[in-house]
Amino acid sequence: MNKFIVGNWKMNGSLSFVDAFLDSIEEQNVAIAIPQVFLAYAYSRNPKFKLVAQNCSIYDKFGAHTGEISADILVGLGCQYVIIGHSERRHMFEEDNISNILKKLNNVISNNMTAILCVDERYEKLINRETLEFIKDNIHNVILAYEPLSAIGTGKTPSISEISNILNLLKQKYFSVNILYGGSVNSKNARDILSISSLDGVLVGGASLKLGEFKEIIVASKDLIA
Ligand code: PEP
Repeated sequence: MNKFIVGNWKMNGSLSFVDAFLDSIEEQNVAIAIPQVFLAYAYSRNPKFKLVAQNCSIYDKFGAHTGEISADILVGLGCQYVIIGHSERRHMFEEDNISNILKKLNNVISNNMTAILCVDERYEKLINRETLEFIKDNIHNVILAYEPLSAIGTGKTPSISEISNILNLLKQKYFSVNILYGGSVNSKNARDILSISSLDGVLVGGASLKLGEFKEIIVASKDLIA
């Protein structure tokens, strides 16, 4: 498959933007993390589009957890991937508890979805022995997203050789798991970043909110095979 392009709208968007997006993107190597409330609508518009949730609850199945959304509910809305441990959630909502992250990973996998586990430079701390075992046992259903803190939303990316070195390290350490790079990817740097041979794709925040820009990133992934 072509290198994987995952957009993350964060807390942005509208139903009309979902429409515009689905009307103009058909590529199979693209997935989009939209606010959870839009998932059912997007699925009803195009059940083939790869939908990503930006988070899920530590609680599984159904129950008295007001305001929470379980992996079981997400899969019923047509969701195929769930982002776990995004750095904004780790910071804003103190979601650095490794056992909570592990619970979420378990909930995602037990619902036959794929987890996109975000880590930054502190990956050795964020991935403990149990998480490591989990990744090993679910290697085809976990994607690592390496997002250096200095690059998220800043417009600054590490050099290609810096990204490449860290990816090689991560691949060695984490059983050749599929890895996305995230952090200020845009239409100008996408081709160079996506050309890194050990990279399987990119996680795109801000630039996924500009349709033209995002489409250029998709074009940059043409003929690059993961
Ligand atoms: C992100 O939030 O995952 C991200 C990569 O954001 P941006 O592309 O805006 O840096």
